[in-house]
Amino acid sequence: MTAATFTPLSLPEAQRIAESIVGAVRWLGAEGHCTCPGIAKHATANAASDCKVVAERIGTLAPGVYCFHGSCQAETEAASYALRSALGKRSASAAPITRSPFIMPRRPAPQFDPAKLERIARKLDGADADWLAARSPKTPWNRTPASFLNELYGPGERVVVFDVFESQGQAVWECTPPPFDARALDAFRTGKPQGVWFLAQPVAC
Ligand SMILES: [Zn+2]
Repeated sequence: MTAATFTPLSLPEAQRIAESIVGAVRWLGAEGHCTCPGIAKHATANAASDCKVVAERIGTLAPGVYCFHGSCQAETEAASYALRSALGKRSASAAPITRSPFIMPRRPAPQFDPAKLERIARKLDGADADWLAARSPKTPWNRTPASFLNELYGPGERVVVFDVFESQGQAVWECTPPPFDARALDAFRTGKPQGVWFLAQPVAC
């Protein structure tokens, strides 16, 4: 090869390669909006700006296909791979220096989507106390009041415990480093018709 054949990949050429993978693109420089290759998998409403394709590296954003929806990840990743592979092949034939087509695309910053949250929360239908207990890193059934509080607070923190409304509290429990007395508050386990509660915020006194 001679130097004369080393023509760099032009933006229009990169755009054309991108369009060969994702179809029509409304370009704005090196990036543009396109129809998501995984649009059939979208579970929430589509907007014209949901999916964008990047034909040339923009700062840290690698060439690829980026969609706002998460359910189309397999399709967008496949399209990103195809795009970078095609751009890499074209660069390889045009210039001696090539970019690896294997760099994973940088994901766009996540955006809060209430519909997405609801969709994910629905997957956990039936996530009740038993469900949580089965997955707890701590054994819940053998907790005592003191060992429960010991999970929540750090050594030196003091917690006021109540079993009477309109009172200043019936005990001040202090978290100590292990071994601690797991039975320190066992007097509160029975015979408290109003229930037992504690101030979540540790006290200084
Ligand atoms: Zn998508």
